[in-house]
Amino acid sequence: MTGEPTVDGAGRTRGGDWLAGRGAVVTGGGRGIGSAVAHALVGAGAKVVVAARSTDEIEVVAERLGAAGARAHAVSCDVSDQESVAKMADRARELLGAVDILVNNAGISGSALRVKVGDWEAMHRVNATGPLLVTQALLPAMLERGWGRIVNVASVVGLKGARYISSYAASKHALLGMTRCLADELAGTGVTVNSVCPGYVDTPMTTRNIGRIAEATGRDAAAVRQGLEEMQPSGRFVSPGEVAHAVLSFLPEAADSLQGSELIVRSGSTGSGS
Ligand code: NDP
Repeated sequence: MTGEPTVDGAGRTRGGDWLAGRGAVVTGGGRGIGSAVAHALVGAGAKVVVAARSTDEIEVVAERLGAAGARAHAVSCDVSDQESVAKMADRARELLGAVDILVNNAGISGSALRVKVGDWEAMHRVNATGPLLVTQALLPAMLERGWGRIVNVASVVGLKGARYISSYAASKHALLGMTRCLADELAGTGVTVNSVCPGYVDTPMTTRNIGRIAEATGRDAAAVRQGLEEMQPSGRFVSPGEVAHAVLSFLPEAADSLQGSELIVRSGSTGSGS
């Protein structure tokens, strides 16, 4: 594990094999931020299991990473389903030997003026219960080995409120609350848990959200996108690679004292995100 990582805009890491020998699980790795994180991890020398529900998407990501001579595997998993998580965790251990790094990235979003209980529960099930289940499945072995890195992909709206996204924002607040408590519990164990809190990121999720806003307001999707980008201090969305860079910053050997940190990733100091 040598060399200093550098990550380009697409999440590809250059400059070293500092994660060689490490096994990593990335949930929601089939597209968007998770795909960029998987690329960055493999670029740094880690072996990676890419997990999500859409088998075709995770297979494409794993194949692309495999073509680069890396060791990447697709394992289907619904993080909201405990049995599915247990199967994925077993398979990940078989494929990787040990899981040292967990990136809880899988998430869903949606917006509604009047919160429906079903939406609320579905959002919490994936965005908050999901990371809990995957963490419970993989953390005990990290504790036994005395080393591990867990990074939860939350959101800036886990830190504050915003209009029309009560269910999503509340689920990300729950994720951050769980992370803060777990960080205290893990102090001194060699296992760390931290969060990244991105603003708007240019991913399929954001494209879907733009489509929903366009539909609800009758505006053109391109105009909605432009309006949202203009709301960002630098006039653009964050790239998935920039989030991957932030995730990797928690992984070095010497990062034991980064415990319970919340790293905001956005293109300026104000604005909102999903
Ligand atoms: P995408 O929709 O582009 O990708 C989400 C990934 O999560 C997909 O691989 C999806 O695959 C997977 N996923 C969704 N539900 C489940 C589930 N139940 N079990 C397993 N995998 C699941 O989203 P982004 O890349 O934009 O978002 C990734 C994370 O970043 C999310 O947690 C999101 O909340 C967060 N985030 C995103 C922001 C943005 O602006 N895009 C801003 C701040 C935070 P599949 O559906 O096939 O399972």
